[in-house]
Amino acid sequence: VLKLSDALEGWSPSGGNRPHQDPVLLLGAVWPEIVGENVARNSNPARLLDGTLLIITRSSSWSQELSFLAERIVAAARARLPNSGIERVRFRVGKLPAAPGSPGVRPHPVRRAKGIAPPASSTTQEALGRLREGVTGRQRAKLTAGWNPCSGCGALVAPDGAALCSACVNARTQARTEATARLLFEAPWLGYRGTAALVDGLSPQHYGSIRRRLLARWWGILERARVAKRFSRDGIERAVASSYVVLKSELPPDDIRPATMRNVLGDELHDFLFGTEQLSETNGE
Ligand SMILES: [Zn+2]
Repeated sequence: VLKLSDALEGWSPSGGNRPHQDPVLLLGAVWPEIVGENVARNSNPARLLDGTLLIITRSSSWSQELSFLAERIVAAARARLPNSGIERVRFRVGKLPAAPGSPGVRPHPVRRAKGIAPPASSTTQEALGRLREGVTGRQRAKLTAGWNPCSGCGALVAPDGAALCSACVNARTQARTEATARLLFEAPWLGYRGTAALVDGLSPQHYGSIRRRLLARWWGILERARVAKRFSRDGIERAVASSYVVLKSELPPDDIRPATMRNVLGDELHDFLFGTEQLSETNGE
């Protein structure tokens, strides 16, 4: 069985198959908004299980300081993600992720001194103040001002007509990208129309940019194999080459002849992948 993830790995913005609309991911995207930049740099929501949100902290002193804020953090997280079922938080010291890929959320990826930065009391005060200020109070004010719940996660969205918050928009774009990439690999002959029929909301521009990135990515895989003169463990290269030729040539699969493969791939790559025995066309008719 071909491992599609291997073929796509590296170009995909997520770098893997993370679940979409995961409340923890969404929470992570707005974490600084909830607890403030300082606290957010030293803690991160990691997992939600049976109503318990696990928060990873930079050090035991951070865990201790934040445990004083536990109730308020729960309230803030629930206010931000009403459907998440968060009932309590737990803290654990651990490795914090590198600056996340949500653009615009943490504009200053801060390079802290290595090691443990203990919470300055001012930091905790700031967090406490922010939480005391009351996310729920702010939510009420927003509702009064005409904000609407995001149709994806329930967070309030400014009244400019958007049905989804930016975190949900990002998650859906990513889901759309991955679904499209998967289809382009498995059924590259579908073209834009066929693919868009299967992927909700796929624009021609988005399709085009995924197609370009995949072609470049796949060519890289094929070139690396050719230069190294060996196939990867799972032998993905031939499948990648087939998809590459169909996607690149935009021909229906029935029109792809051995000569087409050779033409698109070039002699050297073609012979590396398929050997030289296919030199003559054998249509078998
Ligand atoms: Zn949302």
